Amino acid sequence: MTPFDFTDFRRHFPALCTDDASPWCYLDSAATALTPQKVIDATVNYYQHTAATVHRSQHKAAQSLTQDYEDARQRVAEFIHAPQAADIVWTRGTTESINLVAQSYLRPRLQPGDEIIVSQGEHHANLIPWLMVAEQCQARVVTLPLNQDFLPDLQALPALLNSRSRLLAISQMSNVTGGQPDLATAIALCHANHTPVLVDGAQGVVHAPANVQALDIDFYAFSGHKLYGPTGIGVLYGKSALLESMSPWHGGGKMLTQATMQGFVAQKVPHRFEAGTPNIAGVLGLAAALDWLAGFDLSAAENYCAQLATLAENRLSQLPGFRSFRRSNASILAFAIAGVHASDIIALLAEKGVALRAGQHCAQPLTEALGVSGTLRASFAPYNSEEDVTRLVQAVEFALELLAD
Ligand code: PMP
Repeated sequence: MTPFDFTDFRRHFPALCTDDASPWCYLDSAATALTPQKVIDATVNYYQHTAATVHRSQHKAAQSLTQDYEDARQRVAEFIHAPQAADIVWTRGTTESINLVAQSYLRPRLQPGDEIIVSQGEHHANLIPWLMVAEQCQARVVTLPLNQDFLPDLQALPALLNSRSRLLAISQMSNVTGGQPDLATAIALCHANHTPVLVDGAQGVVHAPANVQALDIDFYAFSGHKLYGPTGIGVLYGKSALLESMSPWHGGGKMLTQATMQGFVAQKVPHRFEAGTPNIAGVLGLAAALDWLAGFDLSAAENYCAQLATLAENRLSQLPGFRSFRRSNASILAFAIAGVHASDIIALLAEKGVALRAGQHCAQPLTEALGVSGTLRASFAPYNSEEDVTRLVQAVEFALELLAD
């Protein structure tokens, strides 16, 4: 195994540092990651010591909090190599970021008969908003099929692109297979057709944040909670020219510069997309997560997680009927056991204190392409260890024995 000191990572997570002799085995980080103490401290500190909100009041605490809040925007911009802080919009998460693009960018541009290309491998967050906006505008969603590796088939993309193609929606990494499409190729093909691309980075950002400028990404969305940050905070990056061309989606306080009974003048970007009192603790917590993560070698951590997944895959493959859907070196291992329903196994794993997820993982069209009704998904994070792999394998063996009786 690559030398990565998982104990140094793990010790930051109070949920894992219990006195319990048999602590739980958390293999569900692709649903949400556990929260390190530094992030908990940042959010508690806000509620305990800061009596203020941002961009409103003039008193000292409010001014200094507004500065921290805007510094966090800069921090996120640097994390994904965005040109400037103003290209970062705070949202509630990936889901809201994508809905914002669907309603604020795409809806005013969609004519009846226009097309939105969506890969079949997407999480519902990167499918349903497009289906909704397509229905609102009598446009249609066109499927980018998956290849034999269950990756978006980029060889099929040129034939789908035409003068009616308004956007490609694709994820950086599948939350089921861990597969990563060749984004550079997908984006180059789309741009040659003047079609912008939205990249769902909810899973990918955890493993390697995209460099939005190098990849020439038009829109990039991710959530704080999969990245060791708080829930309820997320990010939309948009190219500045695109954001500038968009009207606000939500109306309310602080997204305008002037309001009369007849109309309003929208604020500049990004504030025009952030109506209402924001999730300040979430923003500060996300910035704390990024600062904390900067202290680790993330590529060594990622290699380590992939090795744990390989170990689990190798050991589980000894079981009759085992089938893995894991793509190249991913730290996510989705699998099925022939003849046994994933939901039957998961209940027994829970009894053994092994936490993973069974089902379709909010990706029904992908699950259909995999040819199964659902999968079990073990997702490894740098706080996991070989002992977690052993517990997973033993728990699956235990479940299969019971179910065979
Ligand atoms: N896309 C992918 C690939 C995801 O894994 C998730 C979260 N499971 C989402 C989108 C949606 O993220 P959120 O629920 O945080 O908005």
